[in-house]
Amino acid sequence: MAERPQYGLLIDYEYCTGCHTCVVACSQEYNWEAGMSGIRVLEVVENLPNDKAYLAFLPFPTELCILCRPRTKKGLEPACVKHCMASCIKYGTIEDLSEEMKGKARMVLWKPR
Ligand code: SF4
Ligand code: SF4
Repeated sequence: MAERPQYGLLIDYEYCTGCHTCVVACSQEYNWEAGMSGIRVLEVVENLPNDKAYLAFLPFPTELCILCRPRTKKGLEPACVKHCMASCIKYGTIEDLSEEMKGKARMVLWKPR
C-alpha cells in the first residue's frame, strides 16, 4: 500500500509585514487562551554589507499547530493560510512544497513532528 503523503506549511516570509493576522486567525479558530496560538511571528535581523540591516518577520508554527486538520479534512485551507493577505503561507504535501522552495531565499518549510 502506498504511503500517505506528509503535509506541511511553506512559509515565504519575503513579503510578511508582521501584521499578526495569522496569529489571530489561529487563536480564533481554536479558541486559544490569550497569548497562545499555533503560530507566532518572529523578528529576524539580517546583517547586510555596509553596516546595513534588514528586518524581516518570520511567521513560524508552534507546538500547538495541528495543521488545521479539522479544516483540511473538510477541504478548507488552514486558517492562517486563508487569512494572510500577503499570501505568505502555503499548505501542501512536503514533496510539492520542497519543489516550490528550490532556489528561493527567505522561505521555510515546516512539517509537524
Ligand atoms: S504571515 Fe501573513 S498574516 Fe502572518 S504576519 Fe505575515 S503578512 Fe501577516
Ligand atoms: S495551520 Fe492551523 S493550527 Fe497551524 S498555525 Fe495555521 S491556523 Fe494554526
